[in-house]
Amino acid sequence: PDISLPALFHESVQKYQNHTAMTFYTKSFTYQQLDTLIKNLAASLHNMGVSKGDRVALMLPNCPQYPISYFASLMCGATIVQINPMYQPTELLHVLNDTETEVIIVLDQLVPLIEKVKPKTSLQAIIPVSFENASKFNELLQDKGLPLPDVTINPKEDVAVLQYTGGTTGRSKGAMLTHYNIVANTLQSHATSVVKTELGKERVLTIAPLFHVYGMTSCMNLTFHIGGNLILVPRFEVDEVVKVIEATKPTVFPGVPTMFITLLNHYKENHFDLSFLKTCISGSAPLPVEAIKQFNALSGTSVAEGYGLSEASPVTHRNPIEGVQKPGSIGIPLPNTDARIVDFATGEQTLPVGEVGELLIKGPQVMKGYWRMPDETAQVIRDGWLHTGDLAKMDEDGFFYIVGRKKEMIITNGYNVYPIEVEDIIYTHPKVMEAAVIGVPDKVRGEAVKAFVVPKEGQQLKDEEITELCRSHLAAYKVPRSVEFLQELPKTAVGKILKRVLKDQIKT
Ligand code: ATP
Repeated sequence: PDISLPALFHESVQKYQNHTAMTFYTKSFTYQQLDTLIKNLAASLHNMGVSKGDRVALMLPNCPQYPISYFASLMCGATIVQINPMYQPTELLHVLNDTETEVIIVLDQLVPLIEKVKPKTSLQAIIPVSFENASKFNELLQDKGLPLPDVTINPKEDVAVLQYTGGTTGRSKGAMLTHYNIVANTLQSHATSVVKTELGKERVLTIAPLFHVYGMTSCMNLTFHIGGNLILVPRFEVDEVVKVIEATKPTVFPGVPTMFITLLNHYKENHFDLSFLKTCISGSAPLPVEAIKQFNALSGTSVAEGYGLSEASPVTHRNPIEGVQKPGSIGIPLPNTDARIVDFATGEQTLPVGEVGELLIKGPQVMKGYWRMPDETAQVIRDGWLHTGDLAKMDEDGFFYIVGRKKEMIITNGYNVYPIEVEDIIYTHPKVMEAAVIGVPDKVRGEAVKAFVVPKEGQQLKDEEITELCRSHLAAYKVPRSVEFLQELPKTAVGKILKRVLKDQIKT
């Protein structure tokens, strides 16, 4: 993996010249067309003064301008700062100031927001992207005969992307991902799916946002590496997604749990064809076993669950695409990835098979460190091992199971309760759409188990239906003491349930 991201992309341009690289609704681009646009933008950015080590922020939904900006900025030797377009001023200021970003490429509708925060930042240039009108971005895409940047990238040292962690557990930190980290993870991911991948032929449904590490590596970089067609969908709106699926007939779908669950529920009332799907991957949060079973029955594929985190570019584990898959497990470590489970109090002693402890990872995809946070970096990377903060166990076949996050484990009456175990049971109830289990302060028990449940549309549920179900499958101390019904759960941009927000609601 000792090459830069633009060099890896360029290998595909040479191999797959006239293949379709990217589709956005009715627009498609071949590898060669995409390459020309990237080079034109790289020359324009270079001409504007973007040079090695500068930070260029991207604040875009999934659209063709995203990969163009990504590779063009990297060609200038710049570091990409990934920004969620839903960020509000406080979050935006945190990331822009933490990184001292000078250039931002942003959706035109968001320009007023950027203008508002600009005086408090080091921003020099705002490059608006428009889907309908002429824009500064389009102007920079023109071929003006400008020279291309001439920079040497050191893949192991140079930071390609600053990926801010989702912030589900606290303040967002910038993971420094080098070219080497991301290229390695792209190649590792390909190695595990090689049996079902036809080079130059796959169509990859990309709803997972590219500004998140999962969409960036597992959708964008992997698709380009295998000469596939990156089918970009800017938002997860189920009717729109089904239209795109019918029009483009995707063969690969790297999704997140809420996407599978929503498609599944939609299918029950509006049948649509999914028979062209060959490979489905789920990652970024636990996918309930029940949902895996139902989606497999519907699509004829088998969803392979994987696991990763921003700090590992992101993928570290996955169920095999072919061969034995274990629903409920995150699978086995990727090639060249070591994983072990250690005692979570000491973070050191390796535990035997079947015991729950903290998951540690070592491999070429592990970040260089947190941006300007040497103390935090030293805490999470020790002797080359990344401490994930996730609690896991390994079975006798070497398959790993996430049982929760260290920070989310509930201790009630001295017993440990892992929310996922309770959630999995609640999900088996036919009237349940979504569920989240947290610990809430309790004078007697320390913490008490509380469940938040979203019933399926038009369904009514009572507390007892949930508690009875749990009681018949779980030890008494794991059964929720209270159940609250909501119309929806608070979520991050990739659809992760924000348990922190649920907890905060309890406190106030
Ligand atoms: P922060 O680290 O700031 O709290 P975040 O959790 O959203 O935010 P990410 O790097 O986006 O940061 O997510 C990584 C986390 O997602 C993992 O540490 C793990 O807790 C969770 N995760 C990813 N895949 C799975 C999976 N298949 N099953 C369970 N949890 C998963």
